[in-house]
Amino acid sequence: MLKHKNILGIVTLLIAVFVYCRINFGSSYWWLVLIAIFFLTLTAIGAFHIRWNYFLTSLHKSFNTNKKQIAITFDDGPNPEFTKKTLDLLKQFDAQATFFCIGRNIEKHPEILKEVFRNGHEIGNHSYIHSNEYGFFSTDKIKQDIAKNATLIKEAIGKTPLLFRPPFGVTNPKIARAIISLKLTSIGWSVRSYDTQAKSAKKILEKILPKIKNGDLLLLHDTSNLSIEVLEQLLLFLREKKIKAVTVGELLNIEVYE
Ligand SMILES: [Zn+2]
Repeated sequence: MLKHKNILGIVTLLIAVFVYCRINFGSSYWWLVLIAIFFLTLTAIGAFHIRWNYFLTSLHKSFNTNKKQIAITFDDGPNPEFTKKTLDLLKQFDAQATFFCIGRNIEKHPEILKEVFRNGHEIGNHSYIHSNEYGFFSTDKIKQDIAKNATLIKEAIGKTPLLFRPPFGVTNPKIARAIISLKLTSIGWSVRSYDTQAKSAKKILEKILPKIKNGDLLLLHDTSNLSIEVLEQLLLFLREKKIKAVTVGELLNIEVYE
């Protein structure tokens, strides 16, 4: 897979070749524009596609596909209405999951976070602020934001999470530096439901169910009735296929708390 560092090296080399050709053969500046377009396109795609592992490695599935298990993850809680409904469904189907929670929501509903943890599910860090501008924050600001959420989680459940899911799955060099320097494990996904954007559960299920295979890591949100509808049908599907829903820690066999 393409890596940001390799592309930087290639672009530097291309610029050097351009300078040589410009001096010796009078090559057009359009070559420089093409190099810039190449670099910016890859940077943009890499930033928005966490599975590319372009700026840093984000674990997004298990390569051990012999075990009939997947991990369901829920972003953006805790939510006073839908996290509870999510917990009830998971309990009904004897399923475990991982919740990537936002600090601002934990401040408002610490008791819900405690309940998620008491139910045996894992808690991951999904930033304190979860801002649209996260990609423009400095490395220090990102580190402070992640640490603020980690403190809230520790206060609620007594453990500091090691798993981090970048807001909106967006990564860049500054976010990568912050995650690496805090010694966190970045977690992506292999199947995305788009449950915050889609209009019908049926459409989501038609899209995601045929894709699901052993070792997958699914992205859902515990923030709407639509997601609850999707979750119920997903759990019925998994039961029928005898696929177990486990936590990210279990699926990937990694430590999830300090
Ligand atoms: Zn989110």
